[in-house]
Amino acid sequence: MHSSLLPKNQSKWSKRQIQILESIAEDFTVSTVQLESMATQFVHQMRVGLTEQKPSDLAMVPTFVTGRPNGYERGSYLALDLGGTNLRVCLINLKGNHELESHQKAFKVSEHLQEANVSELMDFIANSIKEFITSEHINAQIVAHPTDSESLELGFTFSFPVAQTAIDGGLLLRWTKGFNCPGAVDNDIVKLLQQALDRNKVNVHVAALVNDTVGTLLAHSYTHPGTYIGAIFGTGTNGAYVENTHNIKTMHADSDEMIINTEWGNFDKDKNYLPVTIFDNKLDRESINPGVHVFEKMISGMYLGEITRNVLLHLIDQRVLFEGTSSPKLNKHWSFETKFMSAIEDDTTGSLIPIAQVLEQELDLYINTQADREIVKFVCQLVGTRAARLSAMATAAVIRQGLDKGMLRNHGYPLKLSIHEEERVDQNGASKGADANRELIQVGIDGTVFEHYPRFEERMKQGLVELLGPHARDIIKLDIAKDGSGVGAALAALIATKTASASSR
Ligand code: ADP
Ligand code: MG
Repeated sequence: MHSSLLPKNQSKWSKRQIQILESIAEDFTVSTVQLESMATQFVHQMRVGLTEQKPSDLAMVPTFVTGRPNGYERGSYLALDLGGTNLRVCLINLKGNHELESHQKAFKVSEHLQEANVSELMDFIANSIKEFITSEHINAQIVAHPTDSESLELGFTFSFPVAQTAIDGGLLLRWTKGFNCPGAVDNDIVKLLQQALDRNKVNVHVAALVNDTVGTLLAHSYTHPGTYIGAIFGTGTNGAYVENTHNIKTMHADSDEMIINTEWGNFDKDKNYLPVTIFDNKLDRESINPGVHVFEKMISGMYLGEITRNVLLHLIDQRVLFEGTSSPKLNKHWSFETKFMSAIEDDTTGSLIPIAQVLEQELDLYINTQADREIVKFVCQLVGTRAARLSAMATAAVIRQGLDKGMLRNHGYPLKLSIHEEERVDQNGASKGADANRELIQVGIDGTVFEHYPRFEERMKQGLVELLGPHARDIIKLDIAKDGSGVGAALAALIATKTASASSR
């Protein structure tokens, strides 16, 4: 065993504690070689999903979004974001200089509505939009920044699995996340919403339907032209990227490029390459959708706390943590939230008193020694680091596809800096100037885990360096695309409207 896997400055851990934690550390540590074999498989599954009719773990959904904004677009568009307990209605004013203004209002989707007939849900959405656009302040905004057409154009970010049929059409495959409204599955979500808008006399036209990853990619392109990937690391995880249409054999497109929604949460569902532990298997088995989205279950905010809880209970049962005693709270399924891990990893005090506070106040674990607190922190580090490295693997695989197929300017990997770029980085450090920006690979990211989990970004970058070479740090830009789904839906509406008017000319 390599004792190097354990933290350096731990207080007196017993021989048994050291032995058991070394074995846990081995289970959770993902080597460069493992990352490499997963990335190779990921690219393979991407290509199967793009080219063959036989199903791939990666669905690689063509989105019908055939262009990216460059930041000069102008106009006023409505956006809707439905994907959880809140419905957000936004008005986005695109100013044409990479800047925009957004106003929004959230409406709570009650538990009743989450299971009501879909027409009731859609009436609620239509009336929420009506309430939003008739409020005095918003109305003044709309008059001041009109769209080109008469009715207001709306983009809809709908974060449930959809079989997209057009930029403004998609059939709901199944409800997830607690929703179960009869009358929606196999029906066109855009039609259902448009009918409700017409029924309620709301003069709004649904121009586009997008996934939140696609929205994030579009939104980031507006402020960072040339963005290649939009990714989510929040409740779940997923990514969308720009593909050359020559490589998409599952449909015919007239454009040069199209955004593909990878649905990467389902990567390697048979667990042939993923380093799953007994703790992951336990979580999966006890989840509402066993065998589905196994990759997502190792990465995203809904699950990381639960994996950690499973490890802690195992250590308690081996009598190497909390003197072998759990609490009723810790015994409860899903009680250990991912945000606790953030707070625990954030504690860099010698005494680890802040960790003691989380354990006591959130979980009723009052007997905790210094060694206990160190062990809890170490387990969070293992689970959190693995999540970030797997996130890097998916990102790197999508970048490799772009490098191999010519969608990115850099050719092949390890990534190389151009001569021009080398001078620039030597002299000035990070990105400077519009020309230099074209060399960069831009990734727009939305999600609380990326934003708030300590060192998530740094750990991701380390993984990117291992898979794409030392220059990955300078060339790949991981940036937060705040509220990407709202802004992105508005941009999708704009793209759809322009495409429609161009083709009817
Ligand atoms: P969504 O993906 O649904 O749009 P978010 O991006 O806000 O939502 O992510 C919500 C997820 O983030 C939840 O699973 C929650 O457990 C997790 N989370 C909340 N706060 C934190 C935090 N401080 N650190 C890490 N994860 C967090
Ligand atoms: Mg979100």
